[in-house]
Amino acid sequence: MQSVNNGASTGVPVNLDADEQEPREECGVFGVWAPGEDVSKLTYFGLFALQHRGQEGAGIAVGDKGRIVVFKDSGLVSQVFDEAILDALQGDVAIGHTRYSTAGAQSWENVQPMFRTSPDGTDVSLGHNGNLTNYATLQAEAIERRLVPPEGVEGQGSSSDTAVVSALLADGVQDGRSLLDSARELLPKLQGAFCLVFTDGHTLYAARDPHGVRPLSLGRLEQGWVIASETAALDITGASFVRDIAPGELIAINSSGIHTENYAKPSPKTCVFEYVYIARPDSVVEGKTVNAARLEIGRRLSRVAPVDADVVMPVPESGTPAAIGYAEASGIPFAQGLMKNAYVGRTFIQPSDTLRQLGLRLKLNPVREIIEGKSLVVVDDSIVRGNTQRKLIRMLREAGAGEVHVRIASPPVKWPCFYGIDFASPGELIANNAGGDDDAVAENICRVIGADTLAFVSIDDMIAATDRPADSLCAACFDGHYPLGLPENNVNADAVRRIQEGMF
Ligand code: SF4
Repeated sequence: MQSVNNGASTGVPVNLDADEQEPREECGVFGVWAPGEDVSKLTYFGLFALQHRGQEGAGIAVGDKGRIVVFKDSGLVSQVFDEAILDALQGDVAIGHTRYSTAGAQSWENVQPMFRTSPDGTDVSLGHNGNLTNYATLQAEAIERRLVPPEGVEGQGSSSDTAVVSALLADGVQDGRSLLDSARELLPKLQGAFCLVFTDGHTLYAARDPHGVRPLSLGRLEQGWVIASETAALDITGASFVRDIAPGELIAINSSGIHTENYAKPSPKTCVFEYVYIARPDSVVEGKTVNAARLEIGRRLSRVAPVDADVVMPVPESGTPAAIGYAEASGIPFAQGLMKNAYVGRTFIQPSDTLRQLGLRLKLNPVREIIEGKSLVVVDDSIVRGNTQRKLIRMLREAGAGEVHVRIASPPVKWPCFYGIDFASPGELIANNAGGDDDAVAENICRVIGADTLAFVSIDDMIAATDRPADSLCAACFDGHYPLGLPENNVNADAVRRIQEGMF
């Protein structure tokens, strides 16, 4: 039996600064197998720790003796669930998901976990983080097998790549074949970046793509096991970190213990942007604490792009560790010159036109006594469109800043991501329009955003800060080399054509 809410949407956060679009991770996934524990509440708190990976929708599927109940809706975790809902979600196994939409429309049907019933009546629920590059082929197969409606047929369920994978996975559970059998057959057919958690209401399954683009970790509870996109979600549930799920690994957890197998040969290409921006600083990605990687990037930036300044300050919050590293290595005092209005950026209330004019100021407020008359080093995680930095520098100058020297803890973002991160559209990437070699790009962007000087960390220094070999990382949005290939689906056709024609 499946029970879902009525789809009455609580809406999604309003973008208070329409000129701004920060890079957005597509999703976070969580799974727990722990009979006797409150698995829905464990999942709820796990999703809280993964909220930064998706803020448009959240859902939990709980399995009890083979029957699955799903509750999901648009909105933040705290808006979708309350005590009564969680109390109603009882069972031994649960999966959860936080979503941001890039593949598939922003609609209730596309919020995860997905639910399907197999031909033999098995409940199947699945959550996915990543982006499949062969979605078109998979969709065509699912349409041919009449598992999903043809494209363009409205009002018949989800349009996302996850819906297609769910349909194919559930359809394989028939004629005596288990969900594990179905996964073994389907996983080698998937191309691109994916971390999956899924369940048949008895067993918790997880799988990671052979390149391990997105992180996925295994944790141990006293009476069970947890799987999560980031180790921070293990910590919040009291689970101890056991290990990362290996690239190309399929894992199954139930009362018989843990079963693990490699369905594909591993060829690691972890997303380097997880270290720079996406993952929480308190998470550990492939053995490296994200905070430590960002600190080291800041130290390296200070050596290659020194400034004679009074204060080093971050653009909160993901610029903070790199700013601390810069201050530490340069000996320049660190200060929090910008305060973040932590919650207003996720408001659901439409601001008036007057308030909307304030844009960035609704999110960040300068601390005048730190800024006034000072020469500042301002450390940010990345520049995508440049609008935020332009407004920020104007704000700092209005607050009395003397000089503003911007240091960026990642190289210029020049290429789109097809593996699960949504930047601005390729034509809007400021580094694309800045032209020339890296020095010319920095010089041109510096002029556009109105800084006194601007410097980026180099690709080599960024990679060195992760302690990972360069050939085990994806850095395609910085260098244009796509280790998993380009997507075949039409959604990205224009960007793919431009890459193939060398137009970026
Ligand atoms: S293209 Fe960039 S954001 Fe996308 S997976 Fe590669 S490094 Fe990460």
